[in-house]
Amino acid sequence: MLARTGRAAREVRVPEHLEGLSGLVIPGGESTTVEKLIVKDRLDEAIRERFRDGGLALFGTCMGLIVLSRGIEGSRRLRLGLLDVAVARNAYGRQRESFEAAVALNGLAGEPEWVGGTAPVTGVFIRAPVITRTGAGVRVLAVHGGRPVLVREGNALGAAFHPELTEDARIHEYFARIAENAGGTRGGGV
Ligand code: GLN
Repeated sequence: MLARTGRAAREVRVPEHLEGLSGLVIPGGESTTVEKLIVKDRLDEAIRERFRDGGLALFGTCMGLIVLSRGIEGSRRLRLGLLDVAVARNAYGRQRESFEAAVALNGLAGEPEWVGGTAPVTGVFIRAPVITRTGAGVRVLAVHGGRPVLVREGNALGAAFHPELTEDARIHEYFARIAENAGGTRGGGV
């Protein structure tokens, strides 16, 4: 998806891989697995440090949102805690209840990095987390069924759904622009 927006992208597995990047996408997957991998080699510490010094924007989709979040219902596991939302894992239902729905992007109209127009995106929800709380500094950019599904706090963006599983790169374009602003002259890719 990032290549589709014309940006260079590469995989990040260890802290050294963050070198020169202005943005990091944490995609969908299984959070209990990724939480183990992310503390290996202290990748979590490196991400926190780079995010807090302002040079790294973060985008979590589905599982990535869980990993970015500050709290998870019914669990005391440590998250990156960089996006002030609480989530409930799998709260839209089981695999069978996974669904696609048009998601209106009402909250994006005023965002300077948004160049995607007003057409809704197709939200692909796969055992998705429900956002149960948003902190005071969090902007809700899209809502589905009365619940926030796309949120932003500073340079951290989170989606309960999977924009990477469609043909529509508008949300990745939006994130790439956030990352370019965050990375400034340091930015060497997303
Ligand atoms: N159910 C997964 C979890 O809780 C997330 C699923 C996804 O990323 N599609 O970790």
